[in-house]
Amino acid sequence: MQRGFIYSVVKDKCPRCNEGNLFVNKNWYTAKNIGVMPDNCPVCGQDFKIEDGFYLGATYVSYAITVALLVPLLAISYFLFNLDFMWLLPILVVLLTLLMPPILRVSRSIWINFFVHYNPEWKKIDEEYLLKH
Ligand SMILES: [Zn+2]
Repeated sequence: MQRGFIYSVVKDKCPRCNEGNLFVNKNWYTAKNIGVMPDNCPVCGQDFKIEDGFYLGATYVSYAITVALLVPLLAISYFLFNLDFMWLLPILVVLLTLLMPPILRVSRSIWINFFVHYNPEWKKIDEEYLLKH
């Protein structure tokens, strides 16, 4: 897979080097540490906590993903299967609960990828910076 935005989001990797893990625990369905991220990328040192409340913006991405999943699902359930809302509601609650961890991680990953871009030259840039300072 080509390195960059999609690679970083799909593989939960650092947006800058595409090598370091974005989350402490790689398992999406772990009992704890679902959303815990290291302060910096273990490979390139990219700051993952860019500023206080940085990932609040990820809630907008999460909202967009949820709506993008729910609207077609509701339309298919209602128009194709004639499912009543009383049947749909518990199904949707279970489905959204199961999808919460991946949606949380994917939305955070997309959000940081909006601001930090893949740079295959990151090592060279860091060395030049260190030489200058
Ligand atoms: Zn990195």
